[in-house]
This record gives sequence, C-alpha cells and structure tokens, in this order.
Amino acid sequence: MPIWSPEYETMDRGELEALQLRRLQSCVSWVHERVPYYRQALDERGVKPRDIRSLEDVRRLPMTDKTALRDTYPFGMFAVPMEQVVRVHSSSGTTGKPIVVGYTKGDLNTWSELTARIASAAGVTSHDRVQMAFLYGMFTGGWGMHYGIERVGASVFPAGSGNTERQLMMMQDFGTTVLVCTPSYALYIAEVAEKSGIDVKSLPLRVGLFGGEPSGEGMRDEIESRLGILATDNYGLSEVMGPGVSGECEHQCGLHMAEDHFLFEVVDPETGEPRAEGEEGELIITSLTKEAFPVLRYRTHDLTTVDSAICQCGRTLARMRKVRARTDDMLIVRGVNVFPSQIEDVLMEVEGVQPHYLIVVDRVGAMDQIEVQIEVADALFSDAMKDMVAFTKGVSDRITSAVGLNARVTLVEPGTIERTAGKARRVVDRRQPQ
Ligand SMILES: [Zn+2]
Repeated sequence: MPIWSPEYETMDRGELEALQLRRLQSCVSWVHERVPYYRQALDERGVKPRDIRSLEDVRRLPMTDKTALRDTYPFGMFAVPMEQVVRVHSSSGTTGKPIVVGYTKGDLNTWSELTARIASAAGVTSHDRVQMAFLYGMFTGGWGMHYGIERVGASVFPAGSGNTERQLMMMQDFGTTVLVCTPSYALYIAEVAEKSGIDVKSLPLRVGLFGGEPSGEGMRDEIESRLGILATDNYGLSEVMGPGVSGECEHQCGLHMAEDHFLFEVVDPETGEPRAEGEEGELIITSLTKEAFPVLRYRTHDLTTVDSAICQCGRTLARMRKVRARTDDMLIVRGVNVFPSQIEDVLMEVEGVQPHYLIVVDRVGAMDQIEVQIEVADALFSDAMKDMVAFTKGVSDRITSAVGLNARVTLVEPGTIERTAGKARRVVDRRQPQ
C-alpha cells in the first residue's frame, strides 16, 4: 500500500531523533517567547530554551494538564495573535467550559498532511468514495479527517453523524467504499442495516477508519465481520491537534505515531517517571511544530505501550498500542480497580452478547454495587430468557474471574441500551453527582 510521505514515515530513526530535537528546541523557544503561561512555568523551573540539548531534556519541561487549558479559557494559550488564527475548535467539555484550540494556516496544512497519512495507511486512494459519518462542528474529528481525505484525492461525502437511514441510503446509492465514524456508530449502522434487510457486505464498502473513543479487538472483529470491511483504529485529541496524531496501517498492529510532529513519552501516571519501551503507562505528548496552540508535555490520561520496531508496512514511525483505558475512566469499586474495557473484553467473548452494554455503579448503604446491563442477539433473546438465571450467572462468573469483583448482570431487551452517533456512554456512576 502506498505510503503518503515516505521521507518522514520511513525515516531512519537517528535522523528522526535529530529532527525531533531541532523541532523541540524551536518549540520551547516559541512558547517561552509567546505564551505567558509557559514562560512562567519554565522560569519557575529555571529552564531556558537553550537548556534543551537532547531529547531526554524534555523531562525538564513542565507537564500541561486540562486544568491549565481551562484556566486560560478561551484563548490564553494561543501563541499567535488572532489575525493569524484561521480556525478554532473546542473539546466537548461535558462539564463547565470547553478547551478551545486554534490553528494557523500552517497548522491546518500539517493537520491535513497527517490525516492524509492515516487515510493512506488504511489504504484510501483517489479511487475511494468516503462517507464521513463523524460529527462536524466544533469537534475536531469531522473537519480533521475531511481535509486529509480530500488531500488524498478521494471523493468525500460530508454526511455528518446521525440519521442512520440516510447514511445507509447514501452508502447504497453513492457507492461508498470507506466509512469514517466512531466504532460504536459503525456497529449501530450495521444493526440498522440488518433490521432494514440491507446486506452491507454486498455493497462496495471495504474500509473503515474509526476513532473518537476507545474500543477493543472484540469490537473490531464484530465491526469487520458485520460490515465486511477492514477496520483501522485512529487516535488524536483536540488539545494536541485532533485526528492524525496516530493511526493504524493495514497490518493493524498498533498505531503509527506522527513522531516528526510530536514527541511521545510513556510515563508512570503517579510519579511521572519514564516507562521502558513495552511497559504500560500514561501517554504524554509535546507538539513539535504547532504554531497557534503548542503544548508541552500534555497529559492525555490515556494508557498505552509503545513499540519502535519497524513495521511490516515499512514505516519506521513507532507504534502505540490501541488505547483501551484512561486513568480517569478507572472505577474503584469496593477497593478494586476496574476499567470498563476489561468488562467489555469479557462480554465480547460470550457468544450472542451484543456490543452494547452499560455499567451502572451505585452505593447501597455503605456498599458499592456494580451492575452490567447487556443485550443479546434477537435470535438468542428468547432462549436466554428461558434460562436467564443460568445465563446471567455464567456472564457474571466470567466478569468475576477477569476483574476480581462480583457484578450483577442484567439482561435487557435487544435495542434498549442507548445507541449513539458519537461516543458511546458505557458507565453510569451514581455514587457521584451527575
Ligand atoms: Zn505499519
């Protein structure tokens, strides 16, 4: 499969690191000169831009978390005047003010290059017809992918998310070959197609680029088999840029990271100490080339591992493992740490259980309780109902052995759990005020 920018994507790692160092030095000078927040943070640590002499010196830089980005709302972290900002996006901001990010013309050019890369890595070419079922608007997902895919030369259908019947109509009538959306929306499209008697596998659809929420291999298998496509996982966050930060190639063995534009670290989330290659830790990202909204050591709260071995595809850019868990998604129930992804992995192994589930945590008296609501396929629903006690106990036992916690499993009618065109809601924690 063609590599979009081989001069960077297959760069010798020594040369890549030299490029990263030059870019890191200019980024530190850039923020020191232009962003009061960073100037103060660097001054407090006694770090001058000229102190950055090796890539390891990145550890001398301050980490940036969401709080800093919120405290400077809306434009306090911008490193250029507004007349040089040509686009503004924001994070979803479920509580309080969102995080606002800006892009210069140069930033948009880089962004389109990087999303063109991940589209090419999944096999998208100018012969493709791409249905964008991502949300547009302030969310970075839609626009970020849109311009990269146009740059590749494919025909883009900017459908936006939602209106699933219309999505399916377009897919049939326009001969869509590539679908871009969240994994949970892809499954919902599959479900609606099955209910409407549309055989998606007989359509020209062949590739899906998915992102915007964590999802496991079980979910991928389900999407690939129900839609008859190759599904790649892609990663990005608006605080850092948006989609294009990393993405899988057709070998699906980790997400190639855009290391020429970002410096990635994996650290112990508690102590901030670096983790060895292959060891899991929190992903920390420093932008190397961003002009309007550079970030130093942004704490993503995403847990992953990194592998820098050369991939079968020929790319030398290191790969990060699919993000399955975030440090702030971790539930602590009766003293046991549980990630929703661990429960998802168990459910995906039980035959007939659908990839729609909801974890409800509640406190009854002084006792935390966890309930997992699941759906089974229509065909199995009446069988499962007949022997509901045995069926739910079987699932509950598997969860207990995987996560070390008793969970009550409740079978709900097919279609009951909320479907979404964006990020699926997997957890309701009633112990905290909503
Ligand atoms: Zn590869």
